[in-house]
Amino acid sequence: MIEFKIADFFYLKDLARTYWLMRRAEHWTAEQFHSYQADHLLPLLLHCSQQVPYYIDLFKKIGLSPERLNRENVFDQLRRLPLLDKEVLRAAPDRFMARNGQAYRPKAITTSGTTGTPLTVFWDRGSNVMELCSMQRFWRWAGFRIGQSFLDLRSRVFTDQDRHLTTHGRARYIRNWKINSLEFNSDLIDKENLPDYYQVLLRYRPRLLRGHPQAMQKLALLLQESGLTEWKPRVVTPTSEALYDFQKAEISRVWPAPILDHYGLKEHNAFFAQCPSGGYHIFPEYGITEIVNDDGVAVQPGEEGWIVATGLHNFAQPLLRYNTRDRGVAAGDERCGCGRTLPLIRSVIGRIDDCIYTENGARYSGMHFAFFGRRGIQKARLIQENLNSVQVELVTTPEFDQQEAEQLREALLVKVNRQLSFTFVYRDDIRQETPGKFKFVVSRCRPQDTGKP
Ligand SMILES: [Zn+2]
Repeated sequence: MIEFKIADFFYLKDLARTYWLMRRAEHWTAEQFHSYQADHLLPLLLHCSQQVPYYIDLFKKIGLSPERLNRENVFDQLRRLPLLDKEVLRAAPDRFMARNGQAYRPKAITTSGTTGTPLTVFWDRGSNVMELCSMQRFWRWAGFRIGQSFLDLRSRVFTDQDRHLTTHGRARYIRNWKINSLEFNSDLIDKENLPDYYQVLLRYRPRLLRGHPQAMQKLALLLQESGLTEWKPRVVTPTSEALYDFQKAEISRVWPAPILDHYGLKEHNAFFAQCPSGGYHIFPEYGITEIVNDDGVAVQPGEEGWIVATGLHNFAQPLLRYNTRDRGVAAGDERCGCGRTLPLIRSVIGRIDDCIYTENGARYSGMHFAFFGRRGIQKARLIQENLNSVQVELVTTPEFDQQEAEQLREALLVKVNRQLSFTFVYRDDIRQETPGKFKFVVSRCRPQDTGKP
Protein backbone atom coordinates (compact mmCIF):
# COMPACT_ATOMS: atom_id res chain seq x y z
CA MET A 1 0.00 0.00 0.00
CA ILE A 2 1.17 3.50 -0.76
CA GLU A 3 1.51 5.60 2.36
CA PHE A 4 -0.94 8.43 2.62
CA LYS A 5 0.87 11.71 3.23
CA ILE A 6 -1.34 14.60 4.22
CA ALA A 7 0.99 17.11 2.52
CA ASP A 8 0.26 15.56 -0.90
CA PHE A 9 -3.45 16.21 -0.51
CA PHE A 10 -3.66 19.24 1.73
CA TYR A 11 -4.69 22.03 -0.60
CA LEU A 12 -7.43 23.57 1.50
CA LYS A 13 -8.99 25.91 -1.04
CA ASP A 14 -9.02 23.28 -3.78
CA LEU A 15 -10.42 20.69 -1.39
CA ALA A 16 -13.22 22.97 -0.17
CA ARG A 17 -14.20 24.02 -3.70
CA THR A 18 -14.20 20.45 -4.98
CA TYR A 19 -16.08 19.16 -1.94
CA TRP A 20 -18.97 21.60 -2.46
CA LEU A 21 -19.00 21.06 -6.20
CA MET A 22 -19.31 17.30 -5.69
CA ARG A 23 -22.14 17.72 -3.21
CA ARG A 24 -24.13 19.82 -5.67
CA ALA A 25 -23.26 17.55 -8.60
CA GLU A 26 -25.02 14.56 -7.02
CA HIS A 27 -28.25 16.03 -8.38
CA TRP A 28 -27.07 17.55 -11.63
CA THR A 29 -28.80 16.93 -14.96
CA ALA A 30 -27.08 14.98 -17.75
CA GLU A 31 -26.48 18.31 -19.52
CA GLN A 32 -24.69 19.71 -16.50
CA PHE A 33 -22.35 16.70 -16.32
CA HIS A 34 -21.71 16.97 -20.05
CA SER A 35 -20.91 20.65 -19.72
CA TYR A 36 -18.59 20.08 -16.74
CA GLN A 37 -16.67 17.39 -18.62
CA ALA A 38 -16.35 19.51 -21.77
CA ASP A 39 -15.01 22.41 -19.67
CA HIS A 40 -12.26 20.15 -18.31
CA LEU A 41 -11.56 17.98 -21.35
CA LEU A 42 -10.92 20.87 -23.71
CA PRO A 43 -8.05 22.44 -21.71
CA LEU A 44 -6.67 18.94 -21.04
CA LEU A 45 -6.44 18.09 -24.75
CA LEU A 46 -4.93 21.50 -25.54
CA HIS A 47 -2.37 20.95 -22.78
CA CYS A 48 -1.54 17.48 -24.20
CA SER A 49 -1.06 18.95 -27.68
CA GLN A 50 1.46 21.47 -26.39
CA GLN A 51 3.23 19.85 -23.45
CA VAL A 52 3.09 16.05 -23.56
CA PRO A 53 5.57 14.39 -26.00
CA TYR A 54 3.51 11.23 -26.52
CA TYR A 55 0.36 13.21 -27.43
CA ILE A 56 2.19 15.84 -29.50
CA ASP A 57 3.31 12.98 -31.77
CA LEU A 58 0.01 11.08 -31.67
CA PHE A 59 -2.16 14.10 -32.46
CA LYS A 60 0.06 14.88 -35.48
CA LYS A 61 -0.11 11.29 -36.64
CA ILE A 62 -3.91 11.12 -36.60
CA GLY A 63 -4.38 14.71 -37.79
CA LEU A 64 -5.98 16.02 -34.61
CA SER A 65 -5.45 19.73 -34.85
CA PRO A 66 -5.60 21.72 -31.58
CA GLU A 67 -6.77 24.84 -33.45
CA ARG A 68 -9.97 23.08 -34.45
CA LEU A 69 -10.80 21.79 -30.97
CA ASN A 70 -13.81 23.36 -29.25
CA ARG A 71 -16.37 22.55 -26.57
CA GLU A 72 -18.77 21.10 -29.13
CA ASN A 73 -16.42 18.64 -30.83
CA VAL A 74 -14.09 17.75 -27.98
CA PHE A 75 -15.78 14.41 -27.10
CA ASP A 76 -15.74 13.29 -30.75
CA GLN A 77 -12.08 14.23 -31.02
CA LEU A 78 -11.27 12.28 -27.86
CA ARG A 79 -12.95 9.18 -29.30
CA ARG A 80 -10.71 9.38 -32.36
CA LEU A 81 -7.74 8.45 -30.17
CA PRO A 82 -6.75 4.78 -30.03
CA LEU A 83 -7.09 3.07 -26.66
CA LEU A 84 -3.96 3.53 -24.59
CA ASP A 85 -2.52 0.19 -23.59
CA LYS A 86 -0.88 -0.22 -20.21
CA GLU A 87 2.23 -1.67 -21.85
CA VAL A 88 2.76 1.54 -23.86
CA LEU A 89 2.72 3.53 -20.62
CA ARG A 90 4.91 1.00 -18.85
CA ALA A 91 7.52 1.12 -21.61
CA ALA A 92 7.91 4.91 -21.58
CA PRO A 93 6.21 6.68 -18.64
CA ASP A 94 8.35 9.81 -19.20
CA ARG A 95 6.78 10.39 -22.62
CA PHE A 96 3.47 10.96 -20.83
CA MET A 97 4.95 13.56 -18.48
CA ALA A 98 4.10 17.14 -19.38
CA ARG A 99 7.18 19.28 -20.03
CA ASN A 100 5.79 21.79 -17.56
CA GLY A 101 4.68 18.93 -15.28
CA GLN A 102 6.59 20.22 -12.24
CA ALA A 103 4.11 23.09 -11.97
CA TYR A 104 1.46 20.50 -10.99
CA ARG A 105 3.56 19.09 -8.12
CA PRO A 106 3.78 15.49 -9.37
CA LYS A 107 4.82 12.60 -7.19
CA ALA A 108 6.05 9.32 -8.66
CA ILE A 109 4.13 6.24 -7.51
CA THR A 110 5.45 2.82 -8.45
CA THR A 111 2.98 -0.02 -8.37
CA SER A 112 3.87 -3.69 -8.50
CA GLY A 113 1.36 -4.41 -11.29
CA THR A 114 -0.54 -7.64 -11.61
CA THR A 115 2.06 -9.16 -13.92
CA GLY A 116 4.85 -8.29 -11.50
CA THR A 117 6.41 -5.69 -13.80
CA PRO A 118 6.45 -2.32 -12.05
CA LEU A 119 4.51 0.59 -13.46
CA THR A 120 5.36 4.18 -12.56
CA VAL A 121 2.59 6.72 -12.58
CA PHE A 122 2.49 10.29 -11.33
CA TRP A 123 -0.09 11.80 -9.05
CA ASP A 124 -0.38 15.55 -9.12
CA ARG A 125 -2.13 18.18 -7.09
CA GLY A 126 -5.34 18.19 -9.14
CA SER A 127 -5.73 14.44 -9.26
CA ASN A 128 -4.96 14.07 -5.55
CA VAL A 129 -7.62 16.61 -4.59
CA MET A 130 -10.17 14.81 -6.77
CA GLU A 131 -9.16 11.43 -5.33
CA LEU A 132 -9.53 12.58 -1.73
CA CYS A 133 -12.88 14.29 -2.39
CA SER A 134 -14.16 11.19 -4.20
CA MET A 135 -13.13 8.96 -1.33
CA GLN A 136 -14.77 11.42 1.06
CA ARG A 137 -18.01 11.29 -0.96
CA PHE A 138 -17.95 7.50 -0.86
CA TRP A 139 -17.31 7.49 2.87
CA ARG A 140 -20.04 10.07 3.45
CA TRP A 141 -22.46 7.73 1.68
CA ALA A 142 -21.21 4.95 3.96
CA GLY A 143 -21.85 7.05 7.09
CA PHE A 144 -18.16 7.56 7.83
CA ARG A 145 -16.38 10.87 8.43
CA ILE A 146 -12.70 11.58 7.76
CA GLY A 147 -11.04 11.63 11.16
CA GLN A 148 -13.00 8.66 12.53
CA SER A 149 -11.02 5.48 13.15
CA PHE A 150 -10.66 2.92 10.34
CA LEU A 151 -8.88 -0.38 9.86
CA ASP A 152 -7.03 -1.44 6.74
CA LEU A 153 -6.77 -5.19 6.47
CA ARG A 154 -4.57 -6.63 3.76
CA SER A 155 -2.14 -9.30 2.82
CA ARG A 156 0.94 -7.12 2.69
CA VAL A 157 4.39 -7.62 4.10
CA PHE A 158 5.48 -4.91 6.55
CA THR A 159 9.03 -3.67 6.08
CA ASP A 160 11.36 -1.48 8.11
CA GLN A 161 10.53 1.33 5.73
CA ASP A 162 6.94 1.37 6.97
CA ARG A 163 6.55 4.32 9.26
CA HIS A 164 4.26 4.08 12.29
CA LEU A 165 4.99 0.34 12.73
CA THR A 166 3.91 -0.59 16.27
CA THR A 167 3.63 -3.69 18.44
CA HIS A 168 1.26 -4.70 21.20
CA GLY A 169 2.21 -8.05 22.72
CA ARG A 170 2.43 -10.38 19.73
CA ALA A 171 0.44 -8.06 17.47
CA ARG A 172 2.40 -6.13 14.86
CA TYR A 173 0.54 -3.40 13.05
CA ILE A 174 0.66 0.13 11.68
CA ARG A 175 -0.97 2.93 13.62
CA ASN A 176 -1.01 6.27 11.79
CA TRP A 177 -2.44 8.68 14.37
CA LYS A 178 -2.45 11.54 11.87
CA ILE A 179 -5.31 9.96 9.94
CA ASN A 180 -6.60 7.77 12.79
CA SER A 181 -5.90 4.54 10.90
CA LEU A 182 -4.81 1.03 11.78
CA GLU A 183 -3.38 -1.47 9.34
CA PHE A 184 -3.12 -5.20 9.98
CA ASN A 185 -1.37 -7.73 7.77
CA SER A 186 -3.79 -10.65 7.76
CA ASP A 187 -0.97 -13.12 7.02
CA LEU A 188 0.49 -12.45 10.48
CA ILE A 189 -2.73 -13.10 12.41
CA ASP A 190 -3.37 -16.56 13.86
CA LYS A 191 -5.29 -18.10 16.75
CA GLU A 192 -2.37 -17.60 19.17
CA ASN A 193 -1.79 -13.90 18.66
CA LEU A 194 -5.43 -13.02 17.90
CA PRO A 195 -6.22 -11.77 21.47
CA ASP A 196 -3.48 -9.15 21.14
CA TYR A 197 -4.89 -7.88 17.85
CA TYR A 198 -8.33 -7.91 19.44
CA GLN A 199 -7.14 -5.63 22.25
CA VAL A 200 -5.87 -3.18 19.64
CA LEU A 201 -9.30 -3.28 17.98
CA LEU A 202 -11.03 -2.61 21.31
CA ARG A 203 -8.68 0.26 22.02
CA TYR A 204 -9.26 2.14 18.74
CA ARG A 205 -12.64 0.68 17.79
CA PRO A 206 -12.34 1.24 14.02
CA ARG A 207 -15.68 2.22 12.60
CA LEU A 208 -14.89 1.43 8.99
CA LEU A 209 -13.13 -1.68 7.75
CA ARG A 210 -11.54 -1.72 4.34
CA GLY A 211 -9.15 -4.07 2.63
CA HIS A 212 -8.80 -7.33 0.74
CA PRO A 213 -11.98 -9.47 0.99
CA GLN A 214 -9.86 -12.56 1.56
CA ALA A 215 -8.21 -10.90 4.55
CA MET A 216 -11.54 -9.69 5.94
CA GLN A 217 -13.03 -13.14 5.68
CA LYS A 218 -10.09 -14.63 7.56
CA LEU A 219 -10.27 -12.16 10.46
CA ALA A 220 -14.08 -12.43 10.68
CA LEU A 221 -13.93 -16.21 11.02
CA LEU A 222 -11.01 -16.19 13.47
CA LEU A 223 -12.76 -13.69 15.75
CA GLN A 224 -16.01 -15.58 15.61
CA GLU A 225 -14.41 -18.94 16.34
CA SER A 226 -12.64 -17.44 19.35
CA GLY A 227 -15.81 -15.76 20.63
CA LEU A 228 -14.22 -12.29 20.40
CA THR A 229 -17.25 -10.50 19.08
CA GLU A 230 -17.50 -7.23 20.99
CA TRP A 231 -15.96 -5.17 18.18
CA LYS A 232 -17.82 -4.94 14.89
CA PRO A 233 -17.23 -2.49 12.03
CA ARG A 234 -20.15 -0.22 11.14
CA VAL A 235 -19.41 -0.42 7.44
CA VAL A 236 -17.22 -2.65 5.28
CA THR A 237 -15.57 -1.47 2.06
CA PRO A 238 -13.62 -4.06 0.08
CA THR A 239 -10.71 -2.84 -2.04
CA SER A 240 -8.35 -4.19 -4.69
CA GLU A 241 -9.90 -7.63 -5.16
CA ALA A 242 -13.38 -8.45 -6.39
CA LEU A 243 -15.72 -9.42 -3.57
CA TYR A 244 -17.32 -12.79 -4.26
CA ASP A 245 -20.78 -13.72 -3.17
CA PHE A 246 -19.65 -16.52 -0.87
CA GLN A 247 -17.19 -14.16 0.84
CA LYS A 248 -19.87 -11.54 1.24
CA ALA A 249 -22.16 -14.08 2.89
CA GLU A 250 -19.46 -15.14 5.36
CA ILE A 251 -18.43 -11.58 6.23
CA SER A 252 -22.05 -10.44 6.67
CA ARG A 253 -22.76 -13.35 8.98
CA VAL A 254 -20.07 -12.22 11.43
CA TRP A 255 -20.36 -8.46 10.87
CA PRO A 256 -23.91 -7.46 9.92
CA ALA A 257 -22.76 -4.11 8.47
CA PRO A 258 -23.44 -2.70 5.01
CA ILE A 259 -20.80 -3.81 2.50
CA LEU A 260 -20.15 -1.09 -0.06
CA ASP A 261 -17.81 -1.63 -2.98
CA HIS A 262 -15.81 0.95 -4.87
CA TYR A 263 -13.48 0.97 -7.82
CA GLY A 264 -10.45 3.14 -8.37
CA LEU A 265 -7.14 3.01 -10.14
CA LYS A 266 -3.57 3.78 -9.16
CA GLU A 267 -3.45 5.76 -12.41
CA HIS A 268 -6.02 8.18 -10.93
CA ASN A 269 -8.40 8.34 -13.88
CA ALA A 270 -11.65 6.71 -12.80
CA PHE A 271 -13.70 6.27 -9.63
CA PHE A 272 -16.99 4.41 -9.09
CA ALA A 273 -18.68 3.71 -5.78
CA GLN A 274 -21.72 1.93 -4.43
CA CYS A 275 -24.33 3.90 -2.52
CA PRO A 276 -26.39 2.31 0.27
CA SER A 277 -29.20 1.65 -2.26
CA GLY A 278 -26.79 -0.65 -4.07
CA GLY A 279 -26.27 1.42 -7.25
CA TYR A 280 -22.73 1.48 -8.61
CA HIS A 281 -22.27 5.19 -9.41
CA ILE A 282 -19.68 6.54 -11.83
CA PHE A 283 -18.11 9.81 -10.63
CA PRO A 284 -18.21 11.93 -13.82
CA GLU A 285 -16.35 14.82 -12.19
CA TYR A 286 -13.34 12.55 -11.80
CA GLY A 287 -13.04 11.46 -15.40
CA ILE A 288 -14.71 10.22 -18.56
CA THR A 289 -15.56 6.53 -18.41
CA GLU A 290 -16.34 4.48 -21.51
CA ILE A 291 -17.32 0.81 -21.77
CA VAL A 292 -16.14 -0.34 -25.19
CA ASN A 293 -15.70 -3.46 -27.32
CA ASP A 294 -12.37 -4.71 -28.69
CA ASP A 295 -12.55 -2.06 -31.45
CA GLY A 296 -12.91 0.80 -28.96
CA VAL A 297 -16.60 1.40 -29.77
CA ALA A 298 -19.15 1.90 -26.96
CA VAL A 299 -21.15 -1.24 -26.13
CA GLN A 300 -24.94 -1.23 -25.69
CA PRO A 301 -26.55 -1.05 -22.22
CA GLY A 302 -26.39 -4.47 -20.61
CA GLU A 303 -23.35 -5.51 -22.64
CA GLU A 304 -19.90 -6.26 -21.29
CA GLY A 305 -16.80 -4.39 -22.43
CA TRP A 306 -13.47 -2.87 -21.48
CA ILE A 307 -13.50 -0.07 -18.92
CA VAL A 308 -11.67 2.81 -20.58
CA ALA A 309 -10.87 5.89 -18.50
CA THR A 310 -9.74 9.45 -19.13
CA GLY A 311 -8.91 11.31 -15.93
CA LEU A 312 -9.77 14.99 -16.14
CA HIS A 313 -7.46 16.31 -13.44
CA ASN A 314 -3.98 14.88 -13.92
CA PHE A 315 -2.09 17.49 -15.93
CA ALA A 316 1.36 16.26 -14.90
CA GLN A 317 0.85 12.88 -16.61
CA PRO A 318 -2.40 12.87 -18.60
CA LEU A 319 -3.70 9.50 -19.77
CA LEU A 320 -6.36 9.64 -22.49
CA ARG A 321 -8.62 6.66 -23.21
CA TYR A 322 -6.59 4.43 -20.92
CA ASN A 323 -7.55 0.77 -21.15
CA THR A 324 -7.80 -0.34 -17.52
CA ARG A 325 -7.97 -3.99 -18.67
CA ASP A 326 -10.92 -4.36 -16.32
CA ARG A 327 -14.27 -5.48 -17.67
CA GLY A 328 -17.62 -3.88 -16.86
CA VAL A 329 -21.26 -3.99 -17.91
CA ALA A 330 -22.66 -0.72 -19.28
CA ALA A 331 -25.88 0.75 -17.87
CA GLY A 332 -28.48 2.67 -19.86
CA ASP A 333 -30.01 5.85 -18.50
CA GLU A 334 -31.67 4.09 -15.56
CA ARG A 335 -31.66 5.91 -12.24
CA CYS A 336 -30.63 4.65 -8.83
CA GLY A 337 -33.18 4.35 -6.05
CA CYS A 338 -31.14 6.75 -3.90
CA GLY A 339 -32.24 9.69 -6.08
CA ARG A 340 -28.71 10.77 -7.03
CA THR A 341 -28.36 11.52 -10.72
CA LEU A 342 -24.75 10.37 -11.02
CA PRO A 343 -24.62 7.84 -13.87
CA LEU A 344 -24.33 4.12 -13.18
CA ILE A 345 -22.30 1.14 -14.27
CA ARG A 346 -24.22 -2.13 -13.90
CA SER A 347 -21.23 -4.06 -12.65
CA VAL A 348 -17.48 -4.32 -12.63
CA ILE A 349 -16.85 -7.88 -13.72
CA GLY A 350 -13.19 -8.37 -13.23
CA ARG A 351 -9.80 -8.10 -14.68
CA ILE A 352 -8.38 -9.61 -17.82
CA ASP A 353 -6.19 -11.60 -15.40
CA ASP A 354 -9.38 -13.15 -14.02
CA CYS A 355 -10.40 -14.72 -17.34
CA ILE A 356 -10.37 -18.32 -18.40
CA TYR A 357 -10.01 -19.36 -22.03
CA THR A 358 -11.29 -22.06 -24.34
CA GLU A 359 -9.90 -23.89 -27.34
CA ASN A 360 -12.08 -21.98 -29.80
CA GLY A 361 -10.60 -18.67 -28.63
CA ALA A 362 -13.43 -17.55 -26.33
CA ARG A 363 -12.63 -15.67 -23.14
CA TYR A 364 -14.81 -15.78 -20.04
CA SER A 365 -14.64 -13.38 -17.13
CA GLY A 366 -16.91 -12.96 -14.11
CA MET A 367 -16.64 -16.65 -13.20
CA HIS A 368 -17.66 -15.76 -9.64
CA PHE A 369 -21.25 -15.26 -10.86
CA ALA A 370 -21.51 -19.04 -11.05
CA PHE A 371 -21.07 -19.10 -7.26
CA PHE A 372 -24.02 -16.78 -6.69
CA GLY A 373 -26.46 -18.18 -4.14
CA ARG A 374 -24.44 -21.34 -3.42
CA ARG A 375 -24.23 -22.27 0.25
CA GLY A 376 -21.41 -23.77 2.25
CA ILE A 377 -18.45 -22.42 0.28
CA GLN A 378 -15.80 -20.71 2.38
CA LYS A 379 -13.12 -20.32 -0.24
CA ALA A 380 -12.73 -21.13 -3.88
CA ARG A 381 -10.15 -20.83 -6.61
CA LEU A 382 -10.18 -21.79 -10.28
CA ILE A 383 -6.99 -23.13 -11.80
CA GLN A 384 -6.70 -23.63 -15.54
CA GLU A 385 -3.76 -25.65 -16.82
CA ASN A 386 -5.10 -26.38 -20.32
CA LEU A 387 -7.81 -25.22 -22.72
CA ASN A 388 -10.16 -28.15 -22.00
CA SER A 389 -10.63 -28.24 -18.26
CA VAL A 390 -10.54 -26.19 -15.09
CA GLN A 391 -9.78 -27.36 -11.58
CA VAL A 392 -12.08 -25.86 -8.94
CA GLU A 393 -10.46 -25.80 -5.51
CA LEU A 394 -13.01 -25.56 -2.70
CA VAL A 395 -12.99 -25.14 1.05
CA THR A 396 -16.49 -26.06 2.18
CA THR A 397 -18.70 -26.52 5.23
CA PRO A 398 -21.23 -29.40 5.67
CA GLU A 399 -23.86 -27.17 4.05
CA PHE A 400 -22.17 -27.82 0.73
CA ASP A 401 -23.91 -31.09 -0.11
CA GLN A 402 -24.26 -33.11 -3.31
CA GLN A 403 -27.07 -30.90 -4.56
CA GLU A 404 -25.06 -27.70 -4.04
CA ALA A 405 -22.12 -29.30 -5.87
CA GLU A 406 -24.30 -30.23 -8.82
CA GLN A 407 -25.82 -26.79 -9.00
CA LEU A 408 -22.40 -25.15 -8.88
CA ARG A 409 -21.12 -27.42 -11.66
CA GLU A 410 -24.13 -26.63 -13.81
CA ALA A 411 -23.73 -22.86 -13.27
CA LEU A 412 -20.04 -23.09 -14.23
CA LEU A 413 -20.86 -25.06 -17.39
CA VAL A 414 -23.53 -22.57 -18.40
CA LYS A 415 -21.11 -19.68 -17.81
CA VAL A 416 -18.64 -21.08 -20.37
CA ASN A 417 -21.22 -22.40 -22.88
CA ARG A 418 -20.13 -25.96 -21.98
CA GLN A 419 -16.78 -25.40 -23.65
CA LEU A 420 -14.81 -26.64 -20.63
CA SER A 421 -15.12 -29.33 -17.99
CA PHE A 422 -14.73 -28.71 -14.25
CA THR A 423 -13.06 -30.92 -11.67
CA PHE A 424 -13.77 -30.23 -7.98
CA VAL A 425 -10.89 -30.61 -5.52
CA TYR A 426 -11.70 -30.25 -1.81
CA ARG A 427 -9.06 -28.63 0.37
CA ASP A 428 -8.65 -27.74 4.07
CA ASP A 429 -7.45 -24.30 3.09
CA ILE A 430 -6.42 -22.35 0.02
CA ARG A 431 -3.34 -20.24 0.51
CA GLN A 432 -2.25 -17.53 -1.82
CA GLU A 433 1.18 -18.05 -3.30
CA THR A 434 2.50 -14.54 -2.67
CA PRO A 435 1.31 -11.69 -0.42
CA GLY A 436 -0.98 -9.15 -2.04
CA LYS A 437 -4.16 -9.67 -3.93
CA PHE A 438 -5.69 -13.11 -3.80
CA LYS A 439 -6.11 -14.51 -7.29
CA PHE A 440 -9.49 -16.21 -7.64
CA VAL A 441 -8.73 -17.31 -11.18
CA VAL A 442 -5.28 -18.62 -12.08
CA SER A 443 -5.08 -19.39 -15.78
CA ARG A 444 -1.77 -20.71 -17.00
CA CYS A 445 -3.10 -20.57 -20.56
CA ARG A 446 -1.82 -17.18 -21.59
CA PRO A 447 -4.08 -14.99 -23.74
CA GLN A 448 -1.69 -15.25 -26.72
CA ASP A 449 -2.46 -18.99 -26.86
CA THR A 450 -5.95 -18.05 -27.92
CA GLY A 451 -5.04 -15.30 -30.37
CA LYS A 452 -7.19 -12.81 -28.40
CA PRO A 453 -5.98 -9.88 -26.30
ZN1 LIG B 1 -27.51 5.40 -5.64
